[in-house]
Amino acid sequence: MATLDIRDLHVEVDTEDGPKEILRGVDLTVKSGETHAIMGPNGSGKSTLAYSIAGHPKYKVTGGSVTLDGTDVLGMTVDQRARAGLFLAMQYPVEIPGVSVANFLRAAKTAVDGESPKLRTWIKDVNDALEGLKLDKQFAQRSVNDGFSGGEKKRHEIVQLDLLNPKFAVLDETDSGLDIDALRIVADGVNKFTSQGDRGLLLITHYTRILRYIKPDFVHVFVAGRVADEGGPELAEQLEAEGYDKYVRAATV
Ligand code: ADP
Ligand code: MG
Ligand code: MG
Repeated sequence: MATLDIRDLHVEVDTEDGPKEILRGVDLTVKSGETHAIMGPNGSGKSTLAYSIAGHPKYKVTGGSVTLDGTDVLGMTVDQRARAGLFLAMQYPVEIPGVSVANFLRAAKTAVDGESPKLRTWIKDVNDALEGLKLDKQFAQRSVNDGFSGGEKKRHEIVQLDLLNPKFAVLDETDSGLDIDALRIVADGVNKFTSQGDRGLLLITHYTRILRYIKPDFVHVFVAGRVADEGGPELAEQLEAEGYDKYVRAATV
């Protein structure tokens, strides 16, 4: 049983007009076995939260804490976070020319485990993961993110999730740019991950659509840099019907 704990997190970014506070005291606790959906309007700071947990250098933590089983995460390097069992899909958003998917996955697995995976089982594991996401074997020979479609990027994220098998995953807009078939395939991959029972998931999304396929235990409404409301899965249905309006209005008065 593990706990990812975010306490009164404040984060700012540098803008042309000077530092701007984006996260204004976020409180959130995710335990193993739980799926939490974070929902909110565009610009509310959802990705900033994901980047902050990932340790992106652009996002400066000015207050609060993020801990994994009581251990400070914010003081860890990006690699240390991965080794501690955190998976942050947006960790490698860039194109990596000349690095094949196969080599990238192997390097990531080696970094997380502290030793190279055994070659024979590894090749089978990679092929199984690709097959699970309905990706052709040839996909492994392509350069990472080079010319990937939106859907291929998202599937590649879930292939990583499957192979690295972290304690906690943070998935940001995993549903964006997916057609309905791809959405199902990606959701199946995410459900395979959480069905292991002792895994925690923070699923960040603007739309309720993906929540038809991935059932959250808890829903948090994120507005203006903090959690404005929380509840069970029924809250997602309420948001679907009513939108974010009332929260946005309450946050701006
Ligand atoms: P969301 O993911 O909920 O749409 P973001 O976290 O991407 O929201 O952005 C929240 C706010 O922070 C927005 O107003 C955005 O313009 C601002 N912001 C985020 N990252 C940066 C950055 N690197 N530089 C300047 N402003 C940023
Ligand atoms: Mg505060
Ligand atoms: Mg975002």
